[in-house]
Amino acid sequence: MLNADDPETVISLRRLRAVAAEGTRPLVFWIGAGSSRWLGYPSWEELTRGLRKDFSGNVAGFDNQQALVLISQQKFPTIFQMCRDLDEPRYHRLIASAFLPRTAPEAYRKFIESLAGIEPLFAVTTNVDEALESHRPASVTVQRSDLSRCIELLQKKTPFVAKLHGSTSSVKTTIFTISDYQALVADPNYIQTLKYIFASCTVIFLGYGVRDSYVIRLLSEDASERDLFGPGPHFVVTNEAVGVKSLHRIRYETRLRPDHTAALSVLAYIRQSRPEQVTAAIVEEHPVNDSAVAVLGVVPPGKTAYYISDLMPPGTWQTSQEITAKGGAGEIEVSFGLGFTNDEIPFRQSTALHDLAVGLICFDFVYLPFSALALAHDLVGADLFWELVHSGSLIFVHNEAQLGVLFVKGEIIGDLGNIIGGSPEGPTPVPVPQLIRRALKAAPGKDAQAESLFDELERWTTVYKRAVEINLPSLVRSALLMPAISKLLGIGDAILPTQAPRWLRFPYLRLAHLVQTGALCNEYGIQAAKVPFGGIQLTSAAFGVLPKEWQADHLASYVAAGNFNSDLGARLLQDMSITRKILKFRESNHGESFRREVGHVLAAENGQFNASVNAGLKQTIPPEVLQRAHDQLLRLMTENRRITVVPAVWGDARQSDATTRYLRAKSQKLLLELCEARAIGKNDPCICGSGEKLRLFCLPPLR
Ligand SMILES: [Zn+2]
Repeated sequence: MLNADDPETVISLRRLRAVAAEGTRPLVFWIGAGSSRWLGYPSWEELTRGLRKDFSGNVAGFDNQQALVLISQQKFPTIFQMCRDLDEPRYHRLIASAFLPRTAPEAYRKFIESLAGIEPLFAVTTNVDEALESHRPASVTVQRSDLSRCIELLQKKTPFVAKLHGSTSSVKTTIFTISDYQALVADPNYIQTLKYIFASCTVIFLGYGVRDSYVIRLLSEDASERDLFGPGPHFVVTNEAVGVKSLHRIRYETRLRPDHTAALSVLAYIRQSRPEQVTAAIVEEHPVNDSAVAVLGVVPPGKTAYYISDLMPPGTWQTSQEITAKGGAGEIEVSFGLGFTNDEIPFRQSTALHDLAVGLICFDFVYLPFSALALAHDLVGADLFWELVHSGSLIFVHNEAQLGVLFVKGEIIGDLGNIIGGSPEGPTPVPVPQLIRRALKAAPGKDAQAESLFDELERWTTVYKRAVEINLPSLVRSALLMPAISKLLGIGDAILPTQAPRWLRFPYLRLAHLVQTGALCNEYGIQAAKVPFGGIQLTSAAFGVLPKEWQADHLASYVAAGNFNSDLGARLLQDMSITRKILKFRESNHGESFRREVGHVLAAENGQFNASVNAGLKQTIPPEVLQRAHDQLLRLMTENRRITVVPAVWGDARQSDATTRYLRAKSQKLLLELCEARAIGKNDPCICGSGEKLRLFCLPPLR
């Protein structure tokens, strides 16, 4: 995700969007040292530390003290020069061994997948490894000695990977010492080619690191900055200081993923900005489960979990709340919840039971928001509910802070914020035991029994506390930056990501829910999540994730009904005791091995969490495993009763993302109501305060 709280980033992105939408200047990616890091290769600092360790004591005349000083000053080419001058064979041997080919880890695969969405890809790289060209076989590889070829390739729109540095296959060119740099910058061919690229293209520095800043500094020292970088605009995706004024900086978030792969969001951003690109398909930002070990409720290694982010039982479609609270600036109006209303949901049938069945069949654990506790209890009935709790299959997650949209009373533009406690009583979190006893009441005369059940429930409830720490509202703003999100939600260009217009509060809340779901799954190591109507397309655009062809829904449906499109909820409604069969199936060997298989597919798919999208399962489960699981469940179901198959439609239509249309229609209605109340006509300046006519800016995107 890109950093929406940084004004420079927001301005840079608007310019980038304009360039990408226009499509007249080729986009050239300057792929820097960061991408080698994703491959697990050492940084220059690590490399020089390694050299120092090896040279010190082994090579006569090596000045260890000086090396340490140079490392601390980040004067890496000087150290390389020093080592090479002292013992060239040793130096080359060490460099070669540090850059041996290796298999691409998760982060690198993601990088390559993200690049796949950009066609034709023109890449200039300062990386010495050969992973980029080997992963892009259709691209022409241009070596440094041959760099002027790039001009021709750009004109012909032929994709290329141009190597500014040397390559590991030719060890003498791998690393640049001071003298190598001087020779490079003095080479007129080299400078002319770069000047051409900067003059006629838009360059985007990606994976920018110290290695690149060297090149840039040296280049701009030689040529004057303006002379070299041409008309632009050019962009640098980095959180570091850049030092070249004419480059526009784009910063990104590292709160969810510290490995800098969030920088890749810029590729999704470009794709979404291009007119022909409607949906995002870049894999990006599936959060890593770093701090998991110490957190209660974390999915144990080798186990799988499914988060039903929003349990919607039949008949409950009014799902938002508005409260008024006292704040520093006077009275604050707060909206939270998802804000679904009947008219937005094309199918009135609840998916709650189906979701639960999917979770129980396919995953070791089913996570539910704590707010769904009473709903879940009433949905399956008390007996079954407690059986599920006893079986250890259900885990409730209580969000200590809820995301809401806050407005100073009467204001049109508000902001996203965390609401602690979710009530006007104040920012004190309510303890779990108390929450449980608020949600569920003991039947008359059963107090003691209920108390012990409540205690057990407490053990299966975990509290998510990190919303404030990772600043979820700001992550939502980052999602709002993405062009596809603006389009899906109907946000006009006059609205900045830091502004939450009143008429758009429901779309903002939906998006907030999805971002929160991603953060929760990250925290607990949950591999897959069920998101509400319209959520798949929004998640895909916000996180840049591709919705997958195969979904856990279908697999569970097959296992239970022998058919990929069954509404399992309808079967459960017909006979709730089927839930017991599912529990029995879970305990059986077939059930166990089926869940392992789902887990394997998920792992093969992404290694980690499939960022908030319904369990994306690209490859199918081996047919024999599926068949065995189906037979087993069928046998359990038919043990003492006749079964009636209800092949109701459970398909894409119900999860259809056409539902974002309803979101826009609702927002449009709200906007027009707000304007009417203020006697503002379509030709008057809009209520957003931009000074633009309502008819021209905020209204059209909602159609
Ligand atoms: Zn407006």
